[in-house]
Amino acid sequence: MKISCHCGNVVIDVDKPTEVTQCNCSICSRYMSLWGYYPPNEPLITIGADGIDSYSWGDKELEFMRCASCGCVTHYETIPELEKQKTAINFGLAREKVADVPIRYFNGAEEL
Ligand SMILES: [Zn+2]
Repeated sequence: MKISCHCGNVVIDVDKPTEVTQCNCSICSRYMSLWGYYPPNEPLITIGADGIDSYSWGDKELEFMRCASCGCVTHYETIPELEKQKTAINFGLAREKVADVPIRYFNGAEEL
C-alpha cells in the first residue's frame, strides 16, 4: 500500500500491517501516531525535494522523521548503533486504509 504525508513530499510504499500500535508515551501521545513496525529498508520511503527534518529525545535511540514542508510525522528509524534495528511507519497518515487493522495499545508512558 502507498501512504503519504499531507503535501505528498514523502511517499511510503509498504505492506499493509497486521496490527498497528498506539503508544501513550510523551512523544507518541502528542503525535497521535499509529505505528507499524518493519525491518529497516523494507518500507520504500521516497523523500521529495522539500526534504525531511528529524527529532530525537531522551536516550536518542530513535529518530522521528517529519516532512519539512507539511510537518506530518511519517516514520521513525533506529540509530545505527542500536542492536535491534527497525523502521516504524506512522499509519496515522492513512487511518482509513488501516481502519480494519487491530490496534495494539502500548503503555509506553510506564514501560519505556
Ligand atoms: Zn508533506
